[in-house]
Amino acid sequence: MPAATEGLTTPAERRAAIPALELMDLRVGYGRVEVLHDVTLVVPRGAVVALMGPNGAGKTTLLNVAAGLLEPTQGCVHVSGIHVNGVAPEVFARAGVCSIPEGRGVFPNLTVRENLRVFSHATSYSLGHLEAVAFEHFPKLAERRSQLAGTLSGGERQMLSMCRAFTSEPVILLLDEISMGLAPIIVGELYEKVGQLAASGIAILLVEQFAAAALGVADYAAIMRQGRIETVGEPADVAGSLSEAYLGRLSA
Ligand code: ATP
Repeated sequence: MPAATEGLTTPAERRAAIPALELMDLRVGYGRVEVLHDVTLVVPRGAVVALMGPNGAGKTTLLNVAAGLLEPTQGCVHVSGIHVNGVAPEVFARAGVCSIPEGRGVFPNLTVRENLRVFSHATSYSLGHLEAVAFEHFPKLAERRSQLAGTLSGGERQMLSMCRAFTSEPVILLLDEISMGLAPIIVGELYEKVGQLAASGIAILLVEQFAAAALGVADYAAIMRQGRIETVGEPADVAGSLSEAYLGRLSA
């Protein structure tokens, strides 16, 4: 990736070039077991970065650090240039981080509408506005507005979860395996929405096993193995490393 401020002259240009997310020299562990070792990854403003690699490589752990759910034992996390190490996840959210975790991230015992009401607490918009935005993007949810989220299909639940991104206008969106357990046609629909979010200028860091879907929207791909980022580059440039990872020649 080019240096963010390369060739820029005015203060406004420099401000606009501050990356959405910078993870620098991170060491992260669970108890005494370190699982991320000196990880550095930058997500430029408005760019989509696909984080890929075998099971257990540390991808979800990295997303959890970026969401403020895990604190690194070493290194820095910057959101829009602001140092956010050690602050609560709500502060990460206020700084512009929107996290959509694996497993849908909705409240199963609340209806679709009630879930949207919860999402609305993180924004200055009214519930009516959020419903209009959510139902415009996902008309199926309008039909199910009074249904408990726990009774929705997997794809509908993922759509509801993604409404968070459409309604909170984040600086950086973290998506963890949104395709998990879904039929390819639904995955295609969801990635169309990811493409729209990216086109609206939201930076996205996504973890995805469905390589074709992820690389279809990604500006850059980062390949992770055994708690380290091995390769970062444009999708076409990392294809070799990626196929090695997916052919299983690399272990976690
Ligand atoms: P997958 O693709 O299978 O989801 P991943 O690349 O997202 O894997 P992580 O889930 O980040 O990998 O796990 C990285 C390592 O950290 C693994 O060895 C895992 O067993 C370990 N790990 C993850 N969560 C915990 C936890 N809560 N407590 C202890 N170890 C954990």
